[in-house]
Amino acid sequence: MYGVGECCPYRSIHGETQAGTIAFAKDLAAALIGEDPADIRKHVHTMNRMIVGNASVKCAFDMALYDLAAKELDMPLYRFLNGNTQKEIITDNTVSLLDEDKMVEKALKFVGQGFSILKIKLGERPSVKDVRRVAAIRKAVGDDIVMRIDANQGWNYLEARKALNDMADFNIEHCEEPIHADNLPDQIRITAESPIPIMADEAVFNHNDALRIISSNAADLINIKLGKSGGICNAMKIASIAEAADMYCQVGSFSESRLGITALVHFDLAWSNIIYHDLDSPLMLSEDPVIGGMKYDDKWRVTIDDTPGHGADFDPVFLKRFDCAVVE
Ligand SMILES: [Mg+2]
Repeated sequence: MYGVGECCPYRSIHGETQAGTIAFAKDLAAALIGEDPADIRKHVHTMNRMIVGNASVKCAFDMALYDLAAKELDMPLYRFLNGNTQKEIITDNTVSLLDEDKMVEKALKFVGQGFSILKIKLGERPSVKDVRRVAAIRKAVGDDIVMRIDANQGWNYLEARKALNDMADFNIEHCEEPIHADNLPDQIRITAESPIPIMADEAVFNHNDALRIISSNAADLINIKLGKSGGICNAMKIASIAEAADMYCQVGSFSESRLGITALVHFDLAWSNIIYHDLDSPLMLSEDPVIGGMKYDDKWRVTIDDTPGHGADFDPVFLKRFDCAVVE
């Protein structure tokens, strides 16, 4: 039996590189040989003692361990995580930050493809340009399309206050990370003042961050990503803390293929307080190297089947194109 995981180290978000990730993955593999794969909390603790940070490679191992533990019990991962498939999961699609007319064009294209939810990337200064972008997209797509925005830490307090107030009438579902992730005082006041709910993304990597942000009233919502939390084990702690605070969450993608997103969907199905789903990264890849796993329907509803584990695997033909490391 084997488990499969995936990660996408990000220089600009984690400070992680592909070379560093591969080097540490070999150390992690060596440390886990001979261990019981189902002893996941112990292995997460071991990984955290071996190196700080490096959430993405830890996520890949955590994902593989959960896959393997559920396979051992012949159980789909969502059941292993005490979830069910009753929740309807519909993904958004992301309109990247571009000139206004290009963004309108993209938004219309996505709506034409059946998307009912758009995530609009913003964060330019002065933010008045972002307000114009959102106004133009709302006018083009009409009132029935759900729109959420993500400023990716691009504004400061004053730019954010102006933009969020000026966008109050455009029916925006929520705004991710309006100001810098480290700026707790301004996160607190923008959350208190904004007419649009504020979602912490870069400000919440793991459960420690979640506790700080929630106990400080520094966001209304949290965006959970396995590549930030270091995998499912820690993501469940974030979801638990949010649940205790009666807070809704989103799950988000980190450039993963359908494999990483499949694991994320299983996690999503275990938590009723996760009500927003940003699962579009596989759509941005030039090819789909994954066999099995999550599927999109024509309304961009996401479904999984009852294959044991997370149910996704990499196409062996695809993997042959890459270097392979074996740790014994
Ligand atoms: Mg974001």
